[in-house]
Amino acid sequence: MHTAYITHPSYLLHDMGNWHPESPLRLRAIDDRLHAAHLFDFLAHREALAVTREQLLRVHDAAYLDAIEAASPREGIRALDPDTSMNPHTLEAARHAAGGAVLAVDLVMRSEVASAFVACRPPGHHATRNRAMGFCVFNNVAVAAAHALAAHGLERVAIVDFDVHHGNGTEDIFGDEPRVMLCSTFQHPFYPFRGADTVSAHIVNVPLPAGTAGPAYREAFGARILPRLEAFRPQMLLFSAGFDGHREDDMAQFGLVEADYVWITEQVMEVAARHAAGRIVSVLEGGYDLSSLGRSAAAHIRTLAGL
Ligand SMILES: [Zn+2]
Repeated sequence: MHTAYITHPSYLLHDMGNWHPESPLRLRAIDDRLHAAHLFDFLAHREALAVTREQLLRVHDAAYLDAIEAASPREGIRALDPDTSMNPHTLEAARHAAGGAVLAVDLVMRSEVASAFVACRPPGHHATRNRAMGFCVFNNVAVAAAHALAAHGLERVAIVDFDVHHGNGTEDIFGDEPRVMLCSTFQHPFYPFRGADTVSAHIVNVPLPAGTAGPAYREAFGARILPRLEAFRPQMLLFSAGFDGHREDDMAQFGLVEADYVWITEQVMEVAARHAAGRIVSVLEGGYDLSSLGRSAAAHIRTLAGL
């Protein structure tokens, strides 16, 4: 099996209310589409483990972890920020979301699979060292990148964040960590209103205006991200895989389609093949229109798997 597909039952139990766009139905939509496209049986299915406190402490403050544990409600829903809340299952889901990303790194580093997709919730890329925000509790992709450095001895890992929102939490965590390159494309100006003016040798932010569709997106990605990735020579590539830039997703105003997500995946796979022995870990972030989320994630996974 070329590609792992990592899930956990708790991902479906974290629920911030029927009105909330970041809903368990998102993962059902991806699963359904993988079945409909006859991809499901060609993936190596693995269940996430819980992240350890030591693994979380590489990217989050101890006081923040204590605060999240203390906030976990016995019943009902407790708000962490205006967009983000916990139900009694959220802490377990968040621990397994970060733990799923860690498992993905371990599987790829042990060459059990070439790549892995973590179909997790809650998402992570807005979570900073000490703050939950934007539907995110623990920064799953950051936990994975830090694990690749600390547990596997890698010296250069790169995160490609193609979610329509800026990966502000990941930038916050790795702003002073030159072993991690973050490349983020995002609608600007737009939530979370960060990143557009960052100047750093290893943080590559590409703000793009509302209305950006495939041709302009690919031009920017090709000109501003691929040369930087190539020069960095990452030993592992990670995706913050958000599909909310799809033209059918009304969370934002990009005009991407499935073929664009395939193109991004292929470009990064080529970098991974040259420098990282093909190692890719992809962690789900946003994507709120259920139909286009399912189709886009399936297209991304099909490409990763070489199917
Ligand atoms: Zn997003």
